[in-house]
Amino acid sequence: MAKRKVAIIGAGNVGITIAYTLMLDGSADDIAIISKNKEKALGQALDLSHGIPLVNNVKIAIADYDDCRAADIIVIAAGAKTAPGETRLDLAKRNIGIFSEVMTEILKHNSAPMIIIVSNPVDVLTYMAITTFGLPATNVIGSGTVLDSSRFRYFLGKNCNVNPSDGEHGDSQLPLWSLVTIGGVPFDIFCEADPHSTMGAPDRKEVIADLVKDAAYFVRDFKGATYYAISVATLAMVKAILRDENSVMSVSGWMNGQYGLKDVCLSLPSIVNAKGRAAVLAPRIPDDEIEGLVKSANSLHHILDSYLR
Ligand code: NAD
Repeated sequence: MAKRKVAIIGAGNVGITIAYTLMLDGSADDIAIISKNKEKALGQALDLSHGIPLVNNVKIAIADYDDCRAADIIVIAAGAKTAPGETRLDLAKRNIGIFSEVMTEILKHNSAPMIIIVSNPVDVLTYMAITTFGLPATNVIGSGTVLDSSRFRYFLGKNCNVNPSDGEHGDSQLPLWSLVTIGGVPFDIFCEADPHSTMGAPDRKEVIADLVKDAAYFVRDFKGATYYAISVATLAMVKAILRDENSVMSVSGWMNGQYGLKDVCLSLPSIVNAKGRAAVLAPRIPDDEIEGLVKSANSLHHILDSYLR
């Protein structure tokens, strides 16, 4: 079987935790860590390597951009993180510069890379990869709301099992409640029958949606940054591609007129396989949820107009 190589750009909290997660999982044979701060990255790669004999026979090493040539997937986790009081969208300008630098280097060595974008603001950078840098839309997988969906399922899953979908990864993300079922029972009906809570469905929705939206801010207030859960989400995306899984994930990508949305990238349930973001699903949802998605898209259009168009 051909060696499966994943290059990770950016060796900060997120990039290194992704490398660690990949190492433990063993899906990739070769993990190349590309970083501006080579000394720190070398220390991280050595530290990780010392555990290899106990888990999987994986190669982990610091690398240069020319290693992108042979990479099956390139994960972009370079960037500045949100400072306290700053929203993800506030970061746009700083991270656009870093992303441009990174993409320019990648494209010198690999003209059609398969990329997973973790850096924020995910939807804006995903749009840039396709428009500014001309990558095929299928090859660009924004980590989007994969993590938010996991958080959503976590908060719901304390007493039930759900399958949520969201819009923009950011301050205007929204849960599509019409798609949420608990063990096959629509959420509203579940709430009516739930013996463990007297709270009605509207209040429960509000509480859960707020928990999901504020989750990253809570973690950041307590420990400064989020990196474990996003790394697990990234592992899920890497595996979906390397193993041609046809997994349905709410990754961010190009909108082709779904719900009337065009010239913008955001997250909808999509089929992820060896071709990348192979297809986008646009399930039938009520008008108020479509309006929410349009609102999300409009806030992204505003950012894109300010910084890119
Ligand atoms: P960090 O500050 O710990 O690390 C960032 C890394 O990027 C550093 O190693 C830095 O050297 C590197 N870097 C900066 N400019 C670079 C350049 N021009 N070329 C190459 N590398 C460069 O930050 P972090 O906590 O690892 O977060 C990384 C990114 O991931 C941020 O943009 C953050 O917002 C994002 N993030 C996204 C999610 C998500 O859900 N999508 C979750 C957590 C973090």
